Amino acid sequence: MSKINLDILVRKNILEMNSYSSARDEFENKKQKLVFLDANESPFQNEINRYPNNKHIDLKQTLLELNQLSNGQIVLGNGTDEILDLIMRVFCNPSSDKIITIPPTYGMYDVIAKTNNVENIKVPLKSNFTLNLEELKKSFSEKTKLLFLCSPNNPTGNSFSRKDLIDLIESFNGVVVIDEAYIDFSSNSSLVSLINKYNNLIVTQTMSKAFGMAGIRLGMGFSNNKIINYINKIKPPYNINLLTEKRALKELKNIDTIKTNIKIILDERNKLIDSLNELSFIIKVYPSDSNFILIKVDDADLRYKQLIEKGIVLRNRSKELLCDNCLRITIGTPYENELLIKNFKEL
Ligand code: PMP
Repeated sequence: MSKINLDILVRKNILEMNSYSSARDEFENKKQKLVFLDANESPFQNEINRYPNNKHIDLKQTLLELNQLSNGQIVLGNGTDEILDLIMRVFCNPSSDKIITIPPTYGMYDVIAKTNNVENIKVPLKSNFTLNLEELKKSFSEKTKLLFLCSPNNPTGNSFSRKDLIDLIESFNGVVVIDEAYIDFSSNSSLVSLINKYNNLIVTQTMSKAFGMAGIRLGMGFSNNKIINYINKIKPPYNINLLTEKRALKELKNIDTIKTNIKIILDERNKLIDSLNELSFIIKVYPSDSNFILIKVDDADLRYKQLIEKGIVLRNRSKELLCDNCLRITIGTPYENELLIKNFKEL
């Protein structure tokens, strides 16, 4: 495993602190029946009156098996967004440390940086939406603690080459966060197994996209034991609620349905790309490795408004760097996609 000294990268106050511990942590493994008068909960049973067991052993085991990883290599969050924020707070000293992002990319990295008063160094993608390795490397310094790489990238829809991603992991002196929210739609494979090779790598994934569970808010961070322990130190103790855990375990038993749905989305993506390419006001349909397609149109604000009037909501990304007049379209059901094309044709 490549060795970066993580204890130097992590904030000193985090290194030195202890995590919150509850009385339950010490007694939950006892075999005898216990009377719990320790956590100020309601004693009246209704299935949700107790705090959840925050080890989430079954759920973590299921997610680790899906990714062929071992115990201690996963942290769960209230969506990936919570994990991204926790990562920022583990490594970045406010008003001193910096992160690096690659606009146009997922907007929350910047929001979280601003929230934590951490400077975001933006190294734009090249005009063909590939990584600018040279500029990225020039931006590395002692203060740049985190590099956020979203692959497949939102909103551009493309994946970055494995070779480029590995090059950055190997050359960065901080921690690389690879956001794989859309990996299940990609023809490229996940980099998650590389957490066994590089100790400065965190891979995040989510139940919100291909797994069809955006409503329960469940995100995963995969990394080595040490980084996972840092994150667990500051994580709110009961961030994953009972209902989320129960529902995730239920849905994850239906992996075949999830796979079938991914296949439908990918087929629909191809059909939609063909149909979009036939429309005269669409200037470019960008290749997609995700469950959405970025298109450049003649007038994004106009086309966006026209579709809203017809009851269809797209994402107007035209204010993003390199995305002039761009709209982002999520792949819907076959019916919804047909409706979109029908309405587009009528414009
Ligand atoms: N990463 C990317 C790239 C996303 O697009 C999104 C949501 N749109 C997220 C993370 C957030 O995922 P979650 O729902 O797990 O918070």
